[in-house]
Amino acid sequence: MKLPIVKYGDPILRARGKPIAKTDERIRALVSDMLETMHAANGVGLAAQQVGEALQLTVLDISGVEDRPSTLKINGKNVEPVVAMPLVLINPELTLNGERVLGPEGCLSFPEINADIFRSEWVRAKAETLEGETVEIEASGLLARALQHEVDHLNGILFIDRMNSAAKASLSSRLKRLQKETQGQ
Ligand code: ZN
Repeated sequence: MKLPIVKYGDPILRARGKPIAKTDERIRALVSDMLETMHAANGVGLAAQQVGEALQLTVLDISGVEDRPSTLKINGKNVEPVVAMPLVLINPELTLNGERVLGPEGCLSFPEINADIFRSEWVRAKAETLEGETVEIEASGLLARALQHEVDHLNGILFIDRMNSAAKASLSSRLKRLQKETQGQ
């Protein structure tokens, strides 16, 4: 089932996700709905907060983006990123590494708003899978960027918090309008 995507202005986007103790039927159903919602919106990632659940859960799929490469290792082995998609990460912990690089970013909770954001070039993530296994992921490129964006969501951090002040100032009236629209619903 496709879920409505929470927009900027909804306080749940600022909530820190609760760790998931057990991947039960409810979590499985939520993951399935999140994947459907992300794919329908042509997103590369979706965090639980964006469908109204403050949990440590995110889904990612960069396979639809052809012009921004990624690399991926799962448990130390090189994996073709497209083959491993979609990723479902529960209780992820991120280690940032490498240089910080500037790149374009958008967010499904901020329709039609894009900005260049500095992110680490590569990341390591430890997370649990839907099958209850612990997995270690190393990623670079677009996938590294998407992982940082999504794990930020799980901690109540939004990409506007990472924008430089000039970019944020130039978007300020659009952000205010979006916030007002969301809160007026
Ligand atoms: Zn986002």
